[in-house]
Amino acid sequence: AKAEGRSRFSFFSEALTRNARNQLELETQMYQALENDELCVYLQPQTDIHSNSITGAEALVRWQHPEKGLLSPFSFIDLCEQNGQINRIGYQVLLKTCQQGKKWLDKGNPPLILAVNLSASQISDPELYNQVSDILQQTGFPAHHLELELTESALMSETESTITLLERFRSLGIHIAIDDFGTGYSSFSYLKRFPIDVLKIDKSFIDEIEHNARDREIVAAIIAMGHSLGIKVLAEGVEHENQLKILNEIGCDIYQGYLMSRPLPMEQFALLLDNTLAE
Ligand code: C2E
Ligand code: CA
Ligand code: CA
Ligand code: CA
Repeated sequence: AKAEGRSRFSFFSEALTRNARNQLELETQMYQALENDELCVYLQPQTDIHSNSITGAEALVRWQHPEKGLLSPFSFIDLCEQNGQINRIGYQVLLKTCQQGKKWLDKGNPPLILAVNLSASQISDPELYNQVSDILQQTGFPAHHLELELTESALMSETESTITLLERFRSLGIHIAIDDFGTGYSSFSYLKRFPIDVLKIDKSFIDEIEHNARDREIVAAIIAMGHSLGIKVLAEGVEHENQLKILNEIGCDIYQGYLMSRPLPMEQFALLLDNTLAE
């Protein structure tokens, strides 16, 4: 039994070492990626349910890895949140998004709200406010076309300083959205205390909305509560026409999901916009 225990231990310790080595390798490669401009931004449309027109888009990072190809954020975001690289990633995503947004405005495209994800570690970075306002100045992208998405868990720490930060963003004209709403430690008290423009209901509540009356009731309640507080409500992960029909019936404002489009490279997103406008 002792020998077995030892070999099991060495098995685990090898696996741990391998894992640690992989993480270190990924971290080094991400450092290169940030230097070599390997990150790119995809955009997924957000559609006004009432008018059925695209009114905005969420910026979602992708990594064009030199050997592994296009990597999804799931394969690197968690690690980069732990090691702090997410702050530089977030900076680049915001910069690229505002640069593109400004180009489209200059071309005379109809204005869009562009939404960018902020991680918890960015929110506790004292440089964040200056970085965001510098990017807006440098690119000339109007603050009232920018939305920042924060998750509930990101809002839980350092509450007072976070409220102050969000209020400063708000006074520039930036919109604030709560991401993955309903999945975190959902407390309704922060809805009262934080300045919020949009609630994004997590996909997990939308998935079964056709068949599950409880999910439908929960989503309807979130919409009613949001509206009573003057907050717009967006449904995430809408894949089917029937889901959209129900969301329309219960008064949801905006939807995002594969039904309209997957996240697209910026040029393809621009084509989609042109096509939907021409219709
Ligand atoms: P998220 O912020 O909740 O973004 C929505 C995710 O759901 C995206 O995955 C999107 O592609 C996916 N999605 C949208 N509609 C549908 C649908 O109808 N069906 C299904 N099955 N999925 C749908 P993605 O792009 O892989 O991003 C995953 C997560 O990575 C994001 O979740 C976000 O938490 C994080 N992330 C992405 N980009 C950034 C970034 O620039 N900064 C930070 N901090 N996090 C990011
Ligand atoms: Ca998001
Ligand atoms: Ca989300
Ligand atoms: Ca999510």
